[in-house]
Amino acid sequence: MCAGPEVAVDPPDEPATGLRTSSPYGGPLLDMANAIDLHCHPYPDLFPRAGDDLSIALAARDSGMRAVVLKCHHESTVSRAYHVQRQVPEIDVFGGIVLNSYVGYINPAAVEAALKMGGKVIWMPTIDAGYHAQMHGGTGGYEAQSGGRARSEGVWVLDERGDFKPEVREVFELVAEHDAILGTCHLSPREIVAIVKETAERGIQKVTVTHPFFKVPNLDMGTVEEVARLGAYLEFGYCTISPAWHYAIPEKVVEAVQRVGASRCLLVSDTGQRHNPLPHEALRVFGQTVFEKGLSGADIETMIIRNPLGLLGIPEKRLTTEPPLPTGPSPEYC
Ligand SMILES: [Zn+2]
Repeated sequence: MCAGPEVAVDPPDEPATGLRTSSPYGGPLLDMANAIDLHCHPYPDLFPRAGDDLSIALAARDSGMRAVVLKCHHESTVSRAYHVQRQVPEIDVFGGIVLNSYVGYINPAAVEAALKMGGKVIWMPTIDAGYHAQMHGGTGGYEAQSGGRARSEGVWVLDERGDFKPEVREVFELVAEHDAILGTCHLSPREIVAIVKETAERGIQKVTVTHPFFKVPNLDMGTVEEVARLGAYLEFGYCTISPAWHYAIPEKVVEAVQRVGASRCLLVSDTGQRHNPLPHEALRVFGQTVFEKGLSGADIETMIIRNPLGLLGIPEKRLTTEPPLPTGPSPEYC
C-alpha cells in the first residue's frame, strides 16, 4: 500500500484547544490527544477480549489519551483500575461496577463499596437485564458470545406497578452522594426514560444513556431527544456501528448528535471484542467517521474531551504522573 502525496489543506474546523487534527495524507486527521474513553471492555472477562486492562491502558497512554474507564459485565473494575493506574500513571484509569447477577444484581452494598473504593461509574444491568433477555433470548450473553452460568429472565428496575424497586432508589441515593456517573446500559426504553426523569427530579446530573442505537435499547429518535432534553448524555459507542455488530450506521449517530447537540453527547469505543479495534483506535475511527460525515471538530472535541472531563470531574491535565500511594484504613484496624 502506498500513501498519497502530502497535500497541505486547511482543516475545515480546527478546534481552539484540546482535540488536534493534522493533514499528513491529504485531509484532516483527528488524533487522540486528550481524548477520554468512558467505556471499554478489557480482559479479564468471561468473553474473549483483544487486550487486558494494562495493555489497553498503555495503548491509550501511547496514543496521547487523557483517561480510560474499564468496564466488565462480570465484576467490579475498581480494584483493577487501581492497579493499572499504579503502572500507568501518565493517564487516569478508572473503574466502576455493572449491576449484573455476578455482583448480586442491583445490590446497594456492592455499589457503595465500588464508589468508596474510587469507582466512577455505576452501570445498570447489561447482559442480565430483563430487556436484554427479551431481546437476546436469555441473559448472560449475546448471539455471538456467552459467558457465565446465569441464565434467567433477567432483572427489571421497575416493579409491577411501574415504581422503582427500593434497591434501585438506594442506588440513586449512592450515586448522588458520590457524584458518580449512572449508565442505563441494557434496560428497556421505558425504564431508561423513567430513570432519566427520576434522576432529573433528584438533581442527579451525570446520567449516560448507554449506546442508544445498540440492539438494546435501540431508542427511537424521539426518545433520544426526550432524554437529552431531560439532561441525560447520549453515549454512542463504536461497537454499535462496527462491522461485526452494525446495529446502526454512522449517519444515524450524526443525525442524533445534530438533533440534540454535541453538549449532550459522548463518543466511546465500547470495544475490547477481538473483532473490533482496540479502544484507542476504535475511538479514533469513530470520531474520524462522524467528523467526515458532517460533525465538526469542535463537536468531536466536546464529545470525547469536554463532556467526559466534566463527568469524571477531572482537570484537563493530569496533575501528577506519580503512581498513587495505596490508601485505606490504618493498620490498627486491619
Ligand atoms: Zn459495552
